[in-house]
Amino acid sequence: WELDSREFLEAMIAPFEMEFHDASVVLTVERPFPSRPIQVDSDRMAQVFENIIENAKKYAGNPAEMTISTRDEAEWIRIVIRDNGIGISEEDTPYLFERFYRGEKSRSRAFGGAGLGLAICKRIVEEHGGHIGVQSKPGTGAEFYLTLPVIKED
Ligand code: ATP
Ligand code: MG
Repeated sequence: WELDSREFLEAMIAPFEMEFHDASVVLTVERPFPSRPIQVDSDRMAQVFENIIENAKKYAGNPAEMTISTRDEAEWIRIVIRDNGIGISEEDTPYLFERFYRGEKSRSRAFGGAGLGLAICKRIVEEHGGHIGVQSKPGTGAEFYLTLPVIKED
């Protein structure tokens, strides 16, 4: 399960670059990715990317724009997924990662969903020793981040 974070990130993001290639979503991926040793279950982490990127698409603006960037923070790899959608209100942010919670704006039936996606993401990321969070940006879109610990080389 020990992987290079660059290879890991390429594998996680490639399917979405292909999927969005036909311009249904304008996806900007900032490279190069950091290259550090990490320990991940790729199948589980793929679910996290899937959930967050599907949300970003679902709640995105028109035209939908998404940016994925990464940062090497020495002990952590940080991955940031930003969209240009409806954003998330201050009141919603503390509860987003709870099961069955759905933001005020998305409770309308126009946006389907059970409100489970982010709760699952949180569990998986924390099982990896990482963190997941969101920056509230009402009006300008949402910004989700996740961090994964870098393996110490001794
Ligand atoms: P499910 O993922 O189970 O199909 P869901 O997308 O509603 O349903 P979550 O993925 O857990 O549930 O997200 C919880 C809530 O967080 C959403 O209902 C929505 O209000 C808010 N949310 C999540 N991602 C975004 C985003 N990119 N922009 C705006 N709101 C978001
Ligand atoms: Mg979802």
